[in-house]
Amino acid sequence: MSYLNQKMSKKMSIKQVLVTGATGKTGSLVFRKLQQRHDEFSVLGFARSSEKVKQLFGTEADFYFGDIREPSSLDSALAGCQALVILTSAIPKMTAPPQPGERPNFAYESDSMPEAIDYEGQKNQIDAAIKAGVEQIVLVGSMGGTNENHPLNLMGKGKILIWKRKAEKYLVDSGIDYTIIRAGGLLDQPGGVRELLVGNNDDLLNNPPNGIPTSIPREDVAETVVQALRESNSRNKAFDLISKPETDSTVSVTKDFAALFAQTTPEI
Ligand code: NAP
Repeated sequence: MSYLNQKMSKKMSIKQVLVTGATGKTGSLVFRKLQQRHDEFSVLGFARSSEKVKQLFGTEADFYFGDIREPSSLDSALAGCQALVILTSAIPKMTAPPQPGERPNFAYESDSMPEAIDYEGQKNQIDAAIKAGVEQIVLVGSMGGTNENHPLNLMGKGKILIWKRKAEKYLVDSGIDYTIIRAGGLLDQPGGVRELLVGNNDDLLNNPPNGIPTSIPREDVAETVVQALRESNSRNKAFDLISKPETDSTVSVTKDFAALFAQTTPEI
């Protein structure tokens, strides 16, 4: 193959990916990880604040701006994309500092309740992806959605995990290849140093192996997203994801993501 043909064929095999929620804590990690793999991916971000993008990435290049509640703002961002990573989420705000010994109270802005962001907003993204001919959607959700009384569902009367689950069902029924990652409690700790565990429909939450915390570093979730875009056996799978606590032994650290995805199943 000539050098020019080699270059063209490499360019044609590069996957164009849009990351929404790219200014979020996990979304920004995914965005950066995909940027580093420029031989495989061409990454675009979707955000609502140009200031935040400049603060995080130093430039607005490769960003589209809009709001997931406005379906039309997603169309141009998704044009030409083969994959979409959904990392948007409703964000509750503390209403007042907690009294000593009490838990803090949280509420959502009235126009940004989980129904609007985690259901309608995700549905808008999925519909826009269908329109644009996107082949795969990787969606990061949360464990706990099988329990209506989970503290996150009660927070701000938002039923956030219930609405996330409804959007996940919409994705599964959409016909687009899906990878749904329902993460445990997110930690801002280093990734790539733990063994990752997958589960199904909150089984890890209800019966954590050896009582380990059902949490995971955001970096490990971000890496799992990237690998889900690379490994074909991540497609049409929905799974819970946590990590074992970090140990001195590096033997069991998860490196083979195809083997991890092989343990996961389609949503039923
Ligand atoms: P995050 O930092 O809260 O990011 C949420 C992103 O959504 C932000 O970029 C935000 O934009 C964007 N967003 C919200 N409303 C939007 C709108 N109307 N239009 C466009 N963008 C909008 O996320 P995270 O804490 O990394 O969590 C990632 C995912 O994991 C979420 O789905 C979360 O529910 C789930 N999860 C979290 C936990 C946990 O322990 N926190 C546990 C399990 C799963 P701005 O940057 O402009 O605000």
